[in-house]
Amino acid sequence: MNKRSLRDLPPQALDGKRALVRVDFNVPLKNGKVTDDTRLRASLPTITYLREKGARVVLLSHLGRPKGGPPPDPQYSLKQIVRDLEGLLGAPVEFIPDPVSGVPATRRLPRGGVALVENTRFWPGEEKNDPELAKTFAALGDLYVNDAFGSAHRAHASTEAITHLLKPAVAGFLMEKELKYLGELLTNPKRPFIAVLGGAKISGKIDVIRSLLPRVDELLIGGAMACTFFAAMGLEVGSSLVEPDRIALAKELLAQSGKKMIIPRGAVIAPSLERASEHKSVSADSIPKGWAVYDIDETTQHDFRARLLRAKTIFWNGPMGVFETPPFDAGTRAIANALVDAGKKGAVTVVGGGDSVAAVAGMEDKLTHVSTGGGASLEFLEGKELPGVAALENA
Ligand code: ADP
Ligand code: MG
Repeated sequence: MNKRSLRDLPPQALDGKRALVRVDFNVPLKNGKVTDDTRLRASLPTITYLREKGARVVLLSHLGRPKGGPPPDPQYSLKQIVRDLEGLLGAPVEFIPDPVSGVPATRRLPRGGVALVENTRFWPGEEKNDPELAKTFAALGDLYVNDAFGSAHRAHASTEAITHLLKPAVAGFLMEKELKYLGELLTNPKRPFIAVLGGAKISGKIDVIRSLLPRVDELLIGGAMACTFFAAMGLEVGSSLVEPDRIALAKELLAQSGKKMIIPRGAVIAPSLERASEHKSVSADSIPKGWAVYDIDETTQHDFRARLLRAKTIFWNGPMGVFETPPFDAGTRAIANALVDAGKKGAVTVVGGGDSVAAVAGMEDKLTHVSTGGGASLEFLEGKELPGVAALENA
């Protein structure tokens, strides 16, 4: 179902109005400094558009998982990001420490002015989707824009309950983009459509595999997840990361997937991560006892690359190996490069997840879409309805 977007609102619905925008400013911090401002930058198109149309922009976000309090833990205060945000906007940002007493400050904002409200999770009602807290938030704006795709899989006061109290309730540009590219994977992918799944555990991805299998032309498996499939095929896996309680499931998936599921032909192995320098490549049926799989081998890289270069749509989640520890980053880098090259040949390339997004850092402009969503993008691809999306008005 298409959602009504900020783009659909006439400019007079924005001019002078207080736009309450739920953003995802859940950024990593170290000693009070933002170490990665990707999520701040991702919100700029929506904020800038609203400012240009004369709106007063009031931003709402959570940050981390503050526990205990009151008083709330200052290490989770959004005050710490004000400077970074000001730098990116080239404009002052007024900080509102308390949504209850902050209403007059939102009314005093000039047209085009920006305010940031303290961490929504400092109030216990946020994660309970409490209508009373939603009412408090709703008083800060005249219309509601949700641009926090990364928080949309949770029904919280600032993402769900609020939409029943403050209208219009529409999608921001980042939300719109996420829904467009992830939505097309499920409904209308250009073919061939290939998904690449890796990462640590099959258990966390099983619903994604189930949802994607009937939709894709091929499903390429890497990462530690491949080892559970090796075990399901009766191969020795040494001391690799395997989920023994998922071997039966892996067997079942292999059986029902027919030729769609592509398992690595070989692996880069080592006795342990500490002994990475002893690494060597072996075929998948020759993993010795006492050795563990840490990456896909070169043969598999070439095989996966050749397949990906034939694709018209690619979705990738999960690194192919322990990419944090070179040389076990080679498989992951090879897949990243294959996506970029497939993109040059006209393929739509979408990356989602946490570590896989980190693995393509700096390459974003060579990919069609890098989801900021993490857990939300996986739940979306599992076919689940995201409460924060469902609550927005239909187009
Ligand atoms: P994402 O965050 O993209 O969804 P995951 O969290 O599922 O990905 O998996 C990422 C982790 O998987 C990385 O920390 C990586 O080191 C680990 N990993 C990948 N391959 C292996 C492997 N063969 N053995 C152990 N860990 C692996
Ligand atoms: Mg992860």
